[in-house]
Amino acid sequence: MSYTALYRKFRPNNFGEVKGQDHIVTTLKNQLKLGRIGHAYLFTGTRGTGKTSVAKIMARAVNCENPDENGPCGECPMCKSILSQSSMNVIEMDAASNNGVDNVREIVDSVQYSPAEGRYKVYIIDEVHMLSTGAFNALLKTLEEPPAYVIFILATTEVNKIPITILSRCQRYDFHRISIDTIASQLKDLSSKEGVEAEDKAIRYIAKTADGSMRDALSLLDQCTAFYLGEELTYDKVLDVLGAVDTEVFRRILDAVIAKDVRGALSVIEEVCVLGRELGWFINEWIWYMRNLLIVSRISDCEDMIEMSADNIRMLKEQSEKVTDDELVRYIRILSELSSKIRYAAQKRILVEVEVIKMCRPQMENDYESLLDRIRQLEALAEQGAYNNPGNAGETPAGQTPTPEQPVKPARKIYPSALKEDVKMVASKWQEIIGGMDPALYGIVRGMTLSVSGDGGSLVLASPDESFTGIMQNEKNYNVLKEAINDYIGKEVQINVIHISEQEEKSGVYPNLERLINSGIKVDVLKS
Ligand SMILES: [Zn+2]
Repeated sequence: MSYTALYRKFRPNNFGEVKGQDHIVTTLKNQLKLGRIGHAYLFTGTRGTGKTSVAKIMARAVNCENPDENGPCGECPMCKSILSQSSMNVIEMDAASNNGVDNVREIVDSVQYSPAEGRYKVYIIDEVHMLSTGAFNALLKTLEEPPAYVIFILATTEVNKIPITILSRCQRYDFHRISIDTIASQLKDLSSKEGVEAEDKAIRYIAKTADGSMRDALSLLDQCTAFYLGEELTYDKVLDVLGAVDTEVFRRILDAVIAKDVRGALSVIEEVCVLGRELGWFINEWIWYMRNLLIVSRISDCEDMIEMSADNIRMLKEQSEKVTDDELVRYIRILSELSSKIRYAAQKRILVEVEVIKMCRPQMENDYESLLDRIRQLEALAEQGAYNNPGNAGETPAGQTPTPEQPVKPARKIYPSALKEDVKMVASKWQEIIGGMDPALYGIVRGMTLSVSGDGGSLVLASPDESFTGIMQNEKNYNVLKEAINDYIGKEVQINVIHISEQEEKSGVYPNLERLINSGIKVDVLKS
């Protein structure tokens, strides 16, 4: 079965069929009606918004023998000859591939010959911003005083690159991004004409993904229907073809990030990769998800601004209560930067993982928003009582350790003392051991350096960050960590939490044990 791409098949043939550009279509129709046609038009706007289509309709409308209120009739010999591209009256040039002075000279030379049939010669120059400076200059004179039978229609996605001398000679029309509603209703129309059954949710997802471009929307619909030819197009199938993931995935990963649960967040990324989803797409969709969260938290009556079911909006609202606007803005900033980097990255997954860890751990960043986030984290811990237990560890002078040998509360289990080998083993399984701890504590411990005492017999957890050491020297938190270690290894391992200066950290007095062991470097202090 032969298959014609939808976006070719359903190019608008007259002004009535142009979607989402009413402000332009109305003006052009009025000009035609009043016979006040301009001689140089500039159509600007993002890709797929109908610039070339409208230019072609205009080219036929001015030549049509029986124009009606929607422009060209499509039936008269002029319309037919232009549609079949056999007419000499419509000259199209793609400036992306013909941008030199010579290309423009050819046009300028041909302008002097009046049309053999019909009324107007229409020159459509697409991607006009690609013309060289010389080419623009060559065009300028003709654009200034074209013969009465000539119309120029210049189209561009980048109007800022057009010289002012050209701009000032054109009537300018800005094509808008087409709304999701408009695109969706067009897609619905066309798919039913094509006999393709499609869920509303599927259609709306495609419309949203097209980001204002009707052409993109149609080719996405093409991709999806071609993949599932003859079957109903469901939301899940669309997600599958487009390599996208469901909203629920964003909810889970963001929940993990809010809880500073690095492990949980990374496992969602793992899942996305296993599903074979495109990570660039995933990041963009995630940004979109958080934009919706921001809207939900700010605007009470926002249903029409968010492309989601009522159920999903309700869940968004619930989630928005767990996170502040500032945090969301920080997340969006990190992901936006990531989204521009990821396109050219070879190791996309690692890049994504690093940024997600940053989101979970504001201490890895030093900008204002991240500092705010850190303060919030510490406040939350303070509220949970992390600083005000008996024996107040917060008062322990920096550099000293509490006395873990004499726990105030009896240890849950008594384990035999660990040997040097055990210390090494703890270090090699560190992430696994601390991964099971409370997310907030986990985030803190991860931000500290795991090292070893001079004799190799006990572990040292060090940081130049006093808030970190303060929290971990607190008896309650300290015991949580110690129990996690002892339960894992089945032995009593000594661990001291100490505050070190930044110089000490840099000098390597306390080497990062975890890194040494995992990189396979022989660790002298652990030699038995
Ligand atoms: Zn006609």
